Amino acid sequence: MQRVFSGIQPTGIPHLGNYLGAIRNWVTLQEDHNCVFCLVDLHSITMPWDPQTLREQTLGSTACLLAAGIEPTRLYNQSAVSAHARLGWIFNCVSRLGWLNRMTQFKDKAGKNRENHSAGLYVYPNLMAADILAFHATRVPVGEDQRQHIELTNDIGQKFNHDMGVEFFPQVEAFIPPAAARVMSLRDGSKKMSKSDPSEQSRIVLTDTADDIALKIRRAKTDSEPLPSEMDGLSERPEARNLVSIYAAMSDETPADILARFSGQGFGPFKNALADLLVERLAPVASETQRLLQDEAHLLSVLRAGAERANSVSEPIVQEAERLVGFLR
Ligand code: ATP
Ligand code: MG
Repeated sequence: MQRVFSGIQPTGIPHLGNYLGAIRNWVTLQEDHNCVFCLVDLHSITMPWDPQTLREQTLGSTACLLAAGIEPTRLYNQSAVSAHARLGWIFNCVSRLGWLNRMTQFKDKAGKNRENHSAGLYVYPNLMAADILAFHATRVPVGEDQRQHIELTNDIGQKFNHDMGVEFFPQVEAFIPPAAARVMSLRDGSKKMSKSDPSEQSRIVLTDTADDIALKIRRAKTDSEPLPSEMDGLSERPEARNLVSIYAAMSDETPADILARFSGQGFGPFKNALADLLVERLAPVASETQRLLQDEAHLLSVLRAGAERANSVSEPIVQEAERLVGFLR
C-alpha cells in the first residue's frame, strides 16, 4: 500500500482553499492508503509568530481537521517527532542554493524585503522534503502552490541517493486535485487564498458561521458583467472564475454545469446560491470543531498518540539515513 504524507501549517484556521486543495482529498485517501497527516508547526515559525497564538491555532487546526473527517490516529504535530528536524538538517546540506533560489513561494512570501526574513523561510522546502521522505511516502496530496516543492523533494532525494550510492529515498508524486487546486482570494483574483493574508475578508475559514459566509460571499469582488455561458468567457475575469470554480468543486459538478444554470444573470442570485451551498457543507464542520474545542485534554491526547505512531514509522528510516551519511550511533 502506498504511503501518503501531507501537512498543513497551524498558522490560522484552515480555509476553503486548504479544504478543497488538500483536506478533502486527505479524507478520501485515508480510506485505502497508509496516511500520515501533520500539523507542521516547525514551518509555522518561519514567519513572525506569537507563541500563545501558535498553541491555540495548533489546537484549533487539530479540532478542524478531526471535524472535517481526518482519522485521529493519523494526526500529530511535527515538532513532537524529531525525525523531521534531523532529516531536514541533512537535506539543508544536500540541497543546493541554486535550487532554493528558484522557489517561487519564497519570493512571494518574502516580497521585496528579502534581507529581513528568517533563514528558516528560505530553507523551508528542504524541511518539507524531509517531512515527506522521513516516511518514505510516495504520494503527497497538496494544492497547486506546492507542485514546485514536490519537484524539489525529488531532486533532493535523488541527489542523496546518488551521493550515498544507494537507492534509499523513493520518487514522490504530487496528488493535485483536478478542480479547485488553486482557490483564489475573495478580494483579489490574482492572489491565492492564504492563511497568512492579513484580510479576513479574503478567505472563508472552516469555523465561519452561516452569517460570516454569507457576508464574505456577498462582499467578494466581482465585476458588473453577467455570467457568460462558457468558461472561456471568464478567462479575463479571475474573480468570477474563482467563484464559479469554488461552486463547481463544492457541488461536485463541472463549471459548465454551473454556467448553464446561471449564465446571463448578474452575480446576485449566483452569490446567494453559492453562500447557501457553502453553509450547507461547512456548517457541520464548524459546529463539530466548536464541540471538540471544549475538550483540550482530548485534543492533546490525540496529538500525542499520533506522534507516537508517526515516530515508530519515521525513526528507523531517519536512523538509516543518518547511518548512510556517516553519523555514529
Ligand atoms: P500560509 O499562508 O501560512 O502558507 P496556506 O493558506 O498557504 O497558509 P498551508 O498550510 O501552507 O496553507 O497549506 C496547506 C495545504 O493547503 C497545502 O497542501 C496547500 O497546497 C493547500 N493550499 C493552500 N492554499 C490553497 C489554495 N488557495 N487553494 C488550494 N490549495 C491550497
Ligand atoms: Mg502555504
